[in-house]
Order: sequence, then C-alpha cells, then structure tokens
Amino acid sequence: MTIGILSLQGDYPEQRRAIARVTAEPTVLIRTPKDLETIEALILPGGETTTHARLLVSSGLAAPLAERIRSGLPVLATCAGLLLLASRLEAGPTGHEPASLGVLDVTLRRNDYGSQRDSFEAPIVVAGISGAPFPGVFIRAPRILLCGPGVEPLARRGEELVGVKCGPIWGLTFHPELTSDSRLHALWLASFRPPVAAKAPSGRRSTPARTPPGKSSPKRKR
Ligand code: GLN
Repeated sequence: MTIGILSLQGDYPEQRRAIARVTAEPTVLIRTPKDLETIEALILPGGETTTHARLLVSSGLAAPLAERIRSGLPVLATCAGLLLLASRLEAGPTGHEPASLGVLDVTLRRNDYGSQRDSFEAPIVVAGISGAPFPGVFIRAPRILLCGPGVEPLARRGEELVGVKCGPIWGLTFHPELTSDSRLHALWLASFRPPVAAKAPSGRRSTPARTPPGKSSPKRKR
C-alpha cells in the first residue's frame, strides 16, 4: 500500500517521518494530479490553509483530490489539512475564507484559539486509544463548530471536540506528527488496513503481527 502525503506546503516532512515510524509501506509526496495514481491512502498536513487552497488550484490537484476522497480514499488530516476537507469555514475577522474541498460535513472557524503565541499543548482523549492521554499540540488551531450526520467524534479535549471521523476520513485540529507518540497514526492505519506481517529475522519466515487465537492469518492487502 502506498501512502500519499500532500506536499505543497506545511509540515509534510514531519508527517512523512511520523508515518515511517508506524509502517514500512512506501510514501509518495503528492504535488501533481499524476502523483495520486498510485496511492491508497492520503495524509493532509498542517500549514497555512490559504496557501494550501491556492496551490491546490494552481497545481490542478483540487478537483482530482476531492474526487478520490469522495470515492473512499482513507485520509488523515491535521489542522490546515482538516480545514481543507471542511464543507464550511465560518468567516473570521477578515471575512475572506479560503475555498475548501467540501468533502467532510463539518463547520470550522480558523485560528479560533488565537494567534501563534496562543498555541498550546493539552491532553486529549482519543476513541480507541487507552492508557495515557494523547499529547495534543495545537498551533493556530481551528475550532470545530458543527458536525453533520455521519460525522463521529474521534478526539476530545475535556468536553470539546478536537477530532472527528467520517468513515475512512479522519480530521484533527491538533498535530500528532509533532509528537513522538505514534498511537494515532497507527490507529488510523489499522482502521482501513489489516495487520501487516511483522518483519522476520533473517532466515526465518515472517509471522503475522497480530493474529487472534484460533483465527487464520489475515491476507495481506495489496
Ligand atoms: N491557522 C492555520 C490556517 O488556518 C492552520 C494552522 C495549522 O495547520 N497548524 O491556515
């Protein structure tokens, strides 16, 4: 399985490193429509939404990217990436919000916790992750104001929703790729991909990473 990482702008190198910590699957930096051809999952990094939106149009990626996502491509989007997916961006003080792809039924308001100086870290509870709270890094984060039907809660900071999912599309207002905690990337991968065989020590056959007792080994998906 090849994982694409939108690489027009923003923290795509950190996303590439984060995904490499949880899988040996190849990654492709997505910069042109042709780059979309081989991918089976996609990461939309944080960055600057206005710049991203402009570059998506000038690169010709906006329409084919939206089309692939609508057709079921698994997506992990963080911060500006989530803003790109949103169906509505509520007008902020400038009143000029960038055009988003409109593929995830959420309403967001950009920079709703303040400026860069107001960036913060907070413990996050993620559905499906037990043990220690997830370290949430919020950098000029948007706030999730409304979710449409079919959009489920994924992550909360106290009572506040900071992550959502709709089928294979996951969106977070914080940045797991900027921490050393790989649990969220691993959980996203596991949500659409069967466990991959563990790397075998040389000379030995590989065994499945996690095969429940009594079950046969899951087939590796190509
Ligand atoms: N505030 C940025 C924007 O709205 C997003 C910040 C981020 O991705 N960390 O474009």
